[in-house]
Amino acid sequence: MASAELRRLWKLHLIDVAIYEIRARAASLDPGKKILAEIEALKKTLEDKGGRAKTLSAELQDLELQQKSADDKIAKIDKELYSGKVVNPREVENYEKELESLRKNRGSHDERILELWELVPPAKAEAEKIEKALEAKRAELAEHQKKAVALKNQLESSFKQRMAERPAAAKEVDANLLAKYEAIRKKLDGVGMAEVIKRSQCGACGTLLPERTLQACLDDKVVTCESCHRILYYTEGVI
Ligand SMILES: [Zn+2]
Repeated sequence: MASAELRRLWKLHLIDVAIYEIRARAASLDPGKKILAEIEALKKTLEDKGGRAKTLSAELQDLELQQKSADDKIAKIDKELYSGKVVNPREVENYEKELESLRKNRGSHDERILELWELVPPAKAEAEKIEKALEAKRAELAEHQKKAVALKNQLESSFKQRMAERPAAAKEVDANLLAKYEAIRKKLDGVGMAEVIKRSQCGACGTLLPERTLQACLDDKVVTCESCHRILYYTEGVI
């Protein structure tokens, strides 16, 4: 068995390990970097695809309007021509020329309109699909952030609790031993002790401990691991 002194230090060590782990977890909390990057990528795609759908729709609308206006003009000229009011051959010829030009123009618009009827719906569908994906990603981000905040609060509360426990646990330890422990902790990432595992190994660095070190542990002496320099804690029965 470890001495009462070392057992008290071990208690403090367990608090310090908990604090160390809480700090590490808090540092690795992710506000959703990956999801945010995905959202940015989707926004960019939507800009391209949504822009294309809008351009095509606008072009279609414009051509349909032009076509309607041409139809109105054609109908108006037809009406004039067949009203019997236009008798001058030159005037008739002019009207017919205008009709021809309007019809030709209309024909060329027809082709593009047919093409646009094919292009607009899939372009719109594609943009809508991206919009939906973006919406889903935003919901995913909100959910992720909600969980991250909950975890952060939980970590903060555990941290406060451990920090509150620490002074009393430290007070229990002999001042010299505590100073030694703190000095080791400072050098070694906040972890100053290691358990002897399998009755022969340092639990922190895995080094196989020499017989004299193990014997010193059994003799209740304060011994450190020769490799990682942490204070060893030995309890019989540890497998
Ligand atoms: Zn070690």
